[in-house]
Amino acid sequence: MRKNIVVGNWKMNLNRVEGIALVEDILSKLPNDNNTHIIFAPSFVYLNTVAELCAKNTKVVAAAQDCSANRKGAFTGEVSANMIASSNARYVILGHSERRVNFKESNELLKTKVGQAFDSNLKVIFCCGESLLQRESGLHFKWIKSSISESLFHLSSEEFKNIVIAYEPIWAIGTGKTATTEQAQEMHFFIRNLLFEKYGNKVALGTSILYGGSCNYENAKELFASQDIDGGLIGGSSLNSDDFIEITQSF
Ligand code: PEP
Repeated sequence: MRKNIVVGNWKMNLNRVEGIALVEDILSKLPNDNNTHIIFAPSFVYLNTVAELCAKNTKVVAAAQDCSANRKGAFTGEVSANMIASSNARYVILGHSERRVNFKESNELLKTKVGQAFDSNLKVIFCCGESLLQRESGLHFKWIKSSISESLFHLSSEEFKNIVIAYEPIWAIGTGKTATTEQAQEMHFFIRNLLFEKYGNKVALGTSILYGGSCNYENAKELFASQDIDGGLIGGSSLNSDDFIEITQSF
């Protein structure tokens, strides 16, 4: 049975004091019967502190927002997968559209990063999403297929157990414009079918596919009720404890 997951992607928000306060507030208010897997993705700078706070709750872990494509060496400013794992984070987000667009990350580079993450036993939250132009030109399915197949389809079924996919249409991220439940479900079904064609039923039904793009406490319930939407990757609404908790309880 696949997991229901909600990820808080803090991006370059919250300093150390603010980040710790947010995690402590959420952990103290989270219902005892919480069944959702919750992942906080703070800045690298205090990732270890957040990971240690998460250790108090078996359903909560930390993720990095990116990792280097290189194992180690003369790459000033970069953070390796091994460093992330040694900071007690369990996941790394790869391929967020802000990295694909602003830092020109290609499918090929992301394939390398996935390899680095797996070498350090990190699980990967792999993001993909089309631009508005691609959707309006009817190219969105083709784009998502190549994003996933070029970066992930070299993996074995066994390795795929450590992949979570996040579908995040770029036109919905931080814009307040959510994909309709029908648009999101349609793409999630398409992605699950891609996994089925490549790997068969076990991987297709076992992989959590999250939606991201202006998901908030008001629309999460309807989105998460869809057959193929297993949770969310949350940006803006992950910065407010009450909003975020409500999203985590929207299944
Ligand atoms: C994101 O950062 O991946 C995201 C979906 O942001 P927002 O929820 O703010 O649209």
